[in-house]
Amino acid sequence: MSVVWFAGIALIVAVGYAAACYVRPFTACHRCKGTGTAPPRLWDRLRRRITHPRAIHGRPDCRRCAGTGLRLRIGRRTVNYIRRVRRVGR
Ligand SMILES: [Zn+2]
Repeated sequence: MSVVWFAGIALIVAVGYAAACYVRPFTACHRCKGTGTAPPRLWDRLRRRITHPRAIHGRPDCRRCAGTGLRLRIGRRTVNYIRRVRRVGR
């Protein structure tokens, strides 16, 4: 009986995660934590003391999310990948 229970719970979790990925496909970028700017590096901090155009105009865009602060969830990325594979196969 425990195997059936486990399968049922796993199914519910999977459906819930799929629904969450459908409703909110994006989540905050891990690297910039949703701000869209690259985290300050040691080199940037050292250069900021000297007058530098980048230091005045603020931090550069996050390279991982291109300044959007958003990141596709793994579940949504999987759905997109499956869709693409199906379209190619057809
Ligand atoms: Zn980012």
